[in-house]
Amino acid sequence: MKVAVFSTKAFDRQFLEAANLGKQHDLVFFDPHLNKDTAVLAADFPAVCIFVNDQVDAATLKVLASCGTKLVALRCAGFNNVDLKAAAEFGLSVVRVPAYSPEAVAEYTIAMILTLNRKLYRAYNRVREGNFSLDGLMGFNLHGRTVGIIGTGRIGAIVTQILQGFGCKLLVYDVYQNPEVEALGVKYVELSEIFSKSDIISLHCPLTPETHHLINADAIEQMKPGVMLINTSRGALINAKAVTRGLKSGKIGSLGLDVYEKESDLFFEDLSDTIIQDDVFLRLTTFPNVLITGHQAFFTEEALRNIAETTLGNINEFEKTGSCKNLIKV
Ligand code: NAD
Repeated sequence: MKVAVFSTKAFDRQFLEAANLGKQHDLVFFDPHLNKDTAVLAADFPAVCIFVNDQVDAATLKVLASCGTKLVALRCAGFNNVDLKAAAEFGLSVVRVPAYSPEAVAEYTIAMILTLNRKLYRAYNRVREGNFSLDGLMGFNLHGRTVGIIGTGRIGAIVTQILQGFGCKLLVYDVYQNPEVEALGVKYVELSEIFSKSDIISLHCPLTPETHHLINADAIEQMKPGVMLINTSRGALINAKAVTRGLKSGKIGSLGLDVYEKESDLFFEDLSDTIIQDDVFLRLTTFPNVLITGHQAFFTEEALRNIAETTLGNINEFEKTGSCKNLIKV
């Protein structure tokens, strides 16, 4: 099948080509994001392959449908950037990679907690400048601290398990209870209890209308002074302006972000020679107790191999049967 691969980076090409055994699919790589203006690039391609920051809204889907595309293959798990209802109306199927390496994201979440808590990012820069002062580098023991996990699916369950190994007290919240998490002896509580009792709060739920700006002024108000907030899930789970106010007042003690609501204009690109226009983002980067990375939690060899193999498997299955086990239903 002819597949138009959007938002291509060198690593996408490397892993997708390696997984395209016998070159069974004709993969054509495009640098730009997919949106209503670039969708014409996919003319006569029955499939497009997209990533987290492609904008597959009704306008984009209309162009894709009129150009003959039948399949949108996401090479990621989250699908908040696709209008599924419009896809169904235009007769396009949408498939994804539901689980490629939850360990990759879970381990990265722990890396963020430890880096932020023990201020490794500041220590690294200090030592390079011959500054061996410890002032401002004090952290706290994770052992005995209360960590609140919001979303206990594949990633949240592993984060819970790892933090249990650190000797943390765990409080978890989800709209469904995961038996694997219950088997760890961990307690499901109301969201308000997560907010009021946690020293660290980590987000692992998807972005949906219900979870949009889950962390807002009201939620922050309920939190313990000095709380650490970690988001490796989706940017819009957090209201960045409310979080900035929380940081300024000292209510939020530290913040680790691997995702950001308006990241599609920023992440995955080298913007070091340009003037970034997003003042909300820039303000966040000025705090000494904020660690931001550009959506790299998934970025391991194992994850990229799984993503590429599952994506091509999805395309194979769709080509042969017209459906796919990883089809996203509206
Ligand atoms: P998953 O589907 O296995 O788990 C998500 C969990 O969230 C489920 O248990 C679900 O019941 C729960 N949930 C749904 N609505 C909720 C709500 N309103 N409140 C609380 N919980 C709710 O997904 P996963 O594989 O664990 O991934 C979690 C998220 O991580 C994804 O949605 C994606 O946005 C993000 N992610 C980020 C990266 C990265 O590189 N930073 C990589 C992969 C996934």
